[in-house]
Amino acid sequence: QQRVFSGVQPTGNLHLGNYLGAIQRFVALQDSYDCLYCVVDMHAITVWQDPAELKKQIREVTAAFIAAGIDPTKHIVFNQSQVSGHAELAWVFNCVARLGWLNRMTQFKEKAGKDRENASVGLYAYPNLMAADILLYRATHVPVGEDQKQHLELARDIAQKFNNDFGPSMAMLGIEGAFFPQPEPLIGGPAARVMSLRDGSKKMSKSDPSDLSRINLTDDADTVASKIRKAKTDPEPLPSEAEGLKGRPEAENLVGIYAALADVSKEKVLAEFGGGQFSTFKAALVDLSVAKLGPIGGEMKRLVSEPSHIDAILRDGAARARVIADETMHHVKDIVGFVR
Ligand code: ATP
Ligand code: MG
Repeated sequence: QQRVFSGVQPTGNLHLGNYLGAIQRFVALQDSYDCLYCVVDMHAITVWQDPAELKKQIREVTAAFIAAGIDPTKHIVFNQSQVSGHAELAWVFNCVARLGWLNRMTQFKEKAGKDRENASVGLYAYPNLMAADILLYRATHVPVGEDQKQHLELARDIAQKFNNDFGPSMAMLGIEGAFFPQPEPLIGGPAARVMSLRDGSKKMSKSDPSDLSRINLTDDADTVASKIRKAKTDPEPLPSEAEGLKGRPEAENLVGIYAALADVSKEKVLAEFGGGQFSTFKAALVDLSVAKLGPIGGEMKRLVSEPSHIDAILRDGAARARVIADETMHHVKDIVGFVR
């Protein structure tokens, strides 16, 4: 059985990178897979979150999922902390993963910064919890942005080590084959890594202090227009072929955003705008962005004005997720040798 799992952290303003790298693709996968889409609130608290803000942001991410077109009646939309299996399996994985593996994780290094001694233990163990999120549902496919590639590889290593370490125990329990699948990353397309509008070498992020660096899903049309107009570019006109974008990260980023929003290739975008001035291209990009994101932002605002409705969706999703999670955890506890 083919199952998709992915998550988004309720850590602040959702942006175009989250939409193109993740949420837009979640929507597209609904027709071909059983999907679980999770608001990963336990990941969020690996860095300090104000409790009242966190509640708001959990509802906002849920609203974004639904406004973008995820159907919570056909698929499962829930928040992580309501299903205790995530924490339970993460603990087991803390004991499977090796320190040396986690020491290589670049996200930890970036997020901990220079003051590493003062980073939370949770931030360090983050990838183990992420492996638990996926493997708790024995998900086979995980749509994520390019920045999560390394964590996905770690999840595959954890699955394999668990299957190996406990192979004899599984055989004794009559469990045949690999208990945990090797989850496949689904990364790709022209917007797998959307870059900051201010700096073509940094990814667009919720945690970037500059609001001009990103387009938020809830930005109004005027704000989107002004951010795109101010976006950093170089003085050359756009090239006519994708080759010509090499070494021009800001230009490549904007062309990639246009391509992903229009659902065409970068080549196609350049065939239309190549040779022309940036200002012409930027004006078209503003129109396309507003046309695509405007309705989603509007629907998000409408949905968050009814928090009880959102909470009901999350409760229902959690109940359905728990059925799958509990079954996995029963097996895991038997396999590890815990008495039930
Ligand atoms: P934070 O700064 O708090 O880590 P974030 O913007 O990285 O926030 P996450 O909640 O960590 O957002 O990631 C949610 C999903 O969005 C993940 O699949 C991630 O790979 C994807 N994503 C995040 N930033 C980008 C980006 N700039 N381009 C494409 N995908 C992205
Ligand atoms: Mg992130």
